Amino acid sequence: MVTAMPLIHEVKTKKRAIAMTFDDGPHSVYTPQILEIFKTYGGKATFFMVGVQIINQAALVKTVADQGHEIGNHTFSHVKLTELNETRSVEEIERTSRLIREIVSYKPTLLRPPYLAWDDHREAIFSRLRYKPIGALNVDALDWRQPGTSFILERTRRHIRNGSILIFHDGYGDRSQTVEAVRQLVSQLIQEGYHLVTVSELLKMAESTED
Ligand SMILES: [Zn+2]
Repeated sequence: MVTAMPLIHEVKTKKRAIAMTFDDGPHSVYTPQILEIFKTYGGKATFFMVGVQIINQAALVKTVADQGHEIGNHTFSHVKLTELNETRSVEEIERTSRLIREIVSYKPTLLRPPYLAWDDHREAIFSRLRYKPIGALNVDALDWRQPGTSFILERTRRHIRNGSILIFHDGYGDRSQTVEAVRQLVSQLIQEGYHLVTVSELLKMAESTED
């Protein structure tokens, strides 16, 4: 029996912890800016990387991992997994995991489906391959559209609580509003006593409250 797993948007925990995530990178300009923010204020994040961006940017991928951040899988070519057959879906994910493993020597356990396109069939396939499908609470912040720094912050703020998983984008197009929003948010959250942890760390906190 395969237990289907829906997208995880948050975890139940009493710990004052939040997981910030960044999709679509690595990006030669914006990923280093995000890394710098976490270096300055403290905390770790999770980067859901796309295979086509990983190619030729191995050094940047390694830097992200070396600084203690987690790397997750965001498919090879940023496709809707729900529009592919099983073989092609698996190929999109496993090809990217192989690339990541070659660089950072672990296989990602986290998967964020592009456009959060997910269904029962994908759940069955990828839980069998031991991936955890990760969503996020603040999808309505629409940072990928660059709607303004204050818009991104205001929409994200509504979802700040223990165990939140938050989504931002460090790849494709101009991400300067995202970078500025993240800079302010990280600084505020740290001041408010939140621990910024990787998604895997956050998931462990949920498990530990149950026993
Ligand atoms: Zn994406």
